[in-house]
Amino acid sequence: MRTVTGRSDHVVVVGAGLAGLSTAIHLAGRGREVTVVEREAVPGGRMGRLDLGGYRIDTGPTVLTMPDLLDEVFDAVGERTKDRLDLHPVAPAYHAVYADGRTLDVHSDEETMVHAITEFAGPEQAAGYRRLREWLDKLYRAEFDRFIGANFDSPLSMVTPALARLTALGGFRTWNSKVAEYISDPDLRRVFTFQSLYAGVAPDQALAAYAVIAHMDTMSGVFFPRGGMRAVPDALAAAAADAGVRFRYQSTVAQVECAGGRVTAVRTDEDERIACDAIVLTTELHRTYELLGHRSRRPLATRPAPSAVVLHIAGDPGLHEIPHHSLLFGAAWQSAFREIIDEGRVMSDPSLLLTRPTAGDPSLAPDGRELLFLLAPAPNLQRGQIDWPSFQQSYAEQVMDIAKRRLGTRAWRNAELLRVVTPTDWAGKDMVAGSPFALAHTFAQTGPFRPANMIRGFDNVVLAGGSTVPGVGIPPVLISGRLAADRITGHSHIRRRAATSTRTIL
Ligand SMILES: Cc1cc2nc3c(=O)[nH]c(=O)nc-3n(C[C@H](O)[C@H](O)[C@H](O)COP(=O)(O)OP(=O)(O)OC[C@H]3O[C@@H](n4cnc5c(N)ncnc54)[C@H](O)[C@@H]3O)c2cc1C
Repeated sequence: MRTVTGRSDHVVVVGAGLAGLSTAIHLAGRGREVTVVEREAVPGGRMGRLDLGGYRIDTGPTVLTMPDLLDEVFDAVGERTKDRLDLHPVAPAYHAVYADGRTLDVHSDEETMVHAITEFAGPEQAAGYRRLREWLDKLYRAEFDRFIGANFDSPLSMVTPALARLTALGGFRTWNSKVAEYISDPDLRRVFTFQSLYAGVAPDQALAAYAVIAHMDTMSGVFFPRGGMRAVPDALAAAAADAGVRFRYQSTVAQVECAGGRVTAVRTDEDERIACDAIVLTTELHRTYELLGHRSRRPLATRPAPSAVVLHIAGDPGLHEIPHHSLLFGAAWQSAFREIIDEGRVMSDPSLLLTRPTAGDPSLAPDGRELLFLLAPAPNLQRGQIDWPSFQQSYAEQVMDIAKRRLGTRAWRNAELLRVVTPTDWAGKDMVAGSPFALAHTFAQTGPFRPANMIRGFDNVVLAGGSTVPGVGIPPVLISGRLAADRITGHSHIRRRAATSTRTIL
């Protein structure tokens, strides 16, 4: 494995998102002096926060999976997640609502889910679900440590018996076709394939290898921290600080000083110079390259993931009937993905993710009030020519109406739209093509073909975060921090996850 050369005693980490925090903690645990430089006033990055009229809103992720990856990060400095975070399982993980009014609760527990599927689609589909679980489990074991959690120096270094195993499991077929081998009911199948959107690709285009996301989402449990999602970066930053990591908030890295292929210091927008022996950048890829004065040698332009419109909604206790996570499926499916990914239009019959964070912690809203987060997948600004500032209000009302119809209007009396966030807003935060989900996980942007975490021509520069390996989402970016630390210090001695991951969910 390639590592940085020369001294690496003091490392500057740019960005206090989850990737930066994970990197900083892993490095501090291995005896490095670490300074994190963050342009915002608080940690978290995309796992963001907005305090508005007594509502404590999470602006980013709502679905937290694989908390054992948090265990791994805290463990790097001898800490335990449970001493820093109060995580609770979300059960059911999701409540799926179909356009024809049918519903299905998605349970992580096998027997409970078998029962739910038998009621929803009959015993044959339930038997298929049992086999799907087995396949997802094998897939997870085959790829987690060997591919997702490993550094690669070239595509060739991936050619191992593990690759043959992954191929034999159908990892290079499409996600939808692979799941269809087990689940023939197209409505039921959605529950195990919609996650391909998290990878930025339609289910009939995404690699089956990404079905590990369905493993995380539907089998290993979904969690919510007391205090909201922001509690996660707060806890990580506190553990980092206690381990000696220095934080410089409200400091934007505006320049990187480079000599002979080595970064020697960063300069902030306030012209502070911070010298370093090595640097880890968790910035968006285009900004990283710009700071380094690097030109990509990729033959094809990178492809950004689709974006999302998010509505933050407040309401009265009637909203209490709404489960923590609801999937509100439209009748349209493949065409909905096509509209946002290929045609650059909003979904004409959208499928929506609705979260009620106050189900997990009522204190996130003022007494007697509830909070909702409604996410509509949307085209990114590269694909779609939508004038969001003038369209956002009518689109928000349209999306809210659809959600009301699918869930029944009774609960929504007195619902109040607090904030709408569109691709234009994400672009204002420097996110590529106005997408908060960085680069799509197409085949050409997967594994060794994704922008690597070391850049040719630089001896002491490492990348972490959603733009690099292994990819987008809380679990991958936490891993990216460990992979970045490995590039600096050499291999860590993290226990093999797939063989040992036995965290009890309920
Ligand atoms: C609306 C939304 C919903 C999501 N839902 C989920 C979900 O349910 N589950 C899931 O797993 N994932 C979800 N994600 C994805 C997940 O949040 C991200 O993949 C992850 O948080 C990215 O972390 P990161 O550290 O790579 O990047 P960031 O969080 O973007 O961190 C980068 C940090 O660098 C800072 N920075 C940038 N430039 C500079 C500079 N020049 N100087 C100093 N600091 C700088 C930024 O301020 C930021 O804090 C969601 C994201 C969004 C936005």
